Amino acid sequence: MGEIAANYANYTNVCVIGVIRGYVPVLNSVPNREVLVHRMPLVIFLAVLLVAAPAGAQEKIDTAMVAKIRAEGLEHPRVMEVFDHLVNVIGPRLTASPAYRTAVNWSRDRLVNMGLDNVHLEPWEFGRGWQLEKLTVEMIEPRYQPIIGYAKGWSPSTSGRLVAAPVWIGNPGEDLRKYEGKLAGSIVMTRPILENFIRADRPPSSGDLRRAATAFQRDGQIAAMLGKERPGVTLEPSDGEHGTVFVTGRDGGANSVPSIVLSAEHYNMIARLLEQGIPVKLAVEIQSRFFDQDKNAYNVIAEIKGTDPAIGDEVVMAGAHLDSWHTGTGATDNADGIAVEIEAMRILKTLGVKPRRTIRIALWGGEEQGLLGSAAYVKEHLAGESGRAARDKFSVYFNLDNGTPPITGFYLEGNEEMKPIMEAWLKPLNDLGATVSTLGKIGATDHLSFIRVGLPGFQAVQDYTNYDVRTHHTNMDTYERVSADALKQASVVMATVLYDAAMRDAKIPRSPAK
Ligand SMILES: [Zn+2]
Repeated sequence: MGEIAANYANYTNVCVIGVIRGYVPVLNSVPNREVLVHRMPLVIFLAVLLVAAPAGAQEKIDTAMVAKIRAEGLEHPRVMEVFDHLVNVIGPRLTASPAYRTAVNWSRDRLVNMGLDNVHLEPWEFGRGWQLEKLTVEMIEPRYQPIIGYAKGWSPSTSGRLVAAPVWIGNPGEDLRKYEGKLAGSIVMTRPILENFIRADRPPSSGDLRRAATAFQRDGQIAAMLGKERPGVTLEPSDGEHGTVFVTGRDGGANSVPSIVLSAEHYNMIARLLEQGIPVKLAVEIQSRFFDQDKNAYNVIAEIKGTDPAIGDEVVMAGAHLDSWHTGTGATDNADGIAVEIEAMRILKTLGVKPRRTIRIALWGGEEQGLLGSAAYVKEHLAGESGRAARDKFSVYFNLDNGTPPITGFYLEGNEEMKPIMEAWLKPLNDLGATVSTLGKIGATDHLSFIRVGLPGFQAVQDYTNYDVRTHHTNMDTYERVSADALKQASVVMATVLYDAAMRDAKIPRSPAK
């Protein structure tokens, strides 16, 4: 594991240096190229274009436009305005929470002000919103210590401040049955001491992280017991370390129990005290609020209309998710993705591109609860018999979620015909570190909704350094985890692939049916 981490650190440095060193010479070359082109007779100009096209691929690349995209994205970036506003001003954006609605409206207004076409919200039914209003977890005996922890999403409030000795039903050294009938109103610790920490990120370009869930053989029994006994609050350890707490949650309805995830180090300390027979007293309080006036969540949609009379109503699309979990500020998951999508559109709009096909972006909600926003969109517009005509006019969907910029390439999901196309697109961006066109796959995000109806959907390959161990669904998913240079690079890559896909003669080939 240490070896992987060390190699990985090197890899990341290479990427960052690539970004910093990469764009300077090309920016310098932009004016030169334009001057040359203007002074050139047409025949020589066409010859230069042919030479500029990558060898071995028929893909026509408008290198002058790619250079303009790079110049706008790298020299006049506005991507940090969006990232900063989402992360610092609005904060975490749990689907259907007040902050999420603020983010939806703010993003829509920004896209309108950018002059994009057809900016609108698309509602879909979600459920209750939730917001945390107060949380304290303190050890008050045998000594005072504030404890690091976070309420799970949609946790109900405790009935006031609970002050009591915790009951450790997760102690594997004891018979669970001795607690039957004794848990009502208690502070209950549900898991054993946690020793299996998450200590390694996935390797570069490797798709999904397959992490064995740390199952506890009594989990089923404990869940059944908690359902019957109505404890006052449950405590469990996160499997992050160094104060990193992984927290998600779901709306368990009227009978759910207030529940908190603690940093494993603090959970383990309390458990070790109890193991030695030392009395512990905790004070725990959650105040949360539910919102059920509007049970919809919203996708935000915006376009640059296609101009080709024959294929202007065909669509190339990109997306990222606007919702986040609630304990950090949703920086890597996924304000970075949203900021890049909006910036890619700003770059294209600022350059006044006239795309042949329509370029559309979607800012999804409900991704964290199961890709719900993109699934609702696909169901409404693209699925089944009613979606057949729209599917025929749909070229490709690019997603930006898992990992953190820079974009090093795209997962092509086994689509071999796409590989030379993507390689040609990335070629003028290779020096920015975008070099990967892997046939590999990745799951757990919104491109899957498109793949499910047979459409090409590609998630970007990004950097996973500190993503799996530190930021993904944690209290440490914050501003500091994302680099401004990397956001600029990602915006240029996203704008370029959208432009290339919109301009090429044919739609993107579909993967053969499996
Ligand atoms: Zn996520």
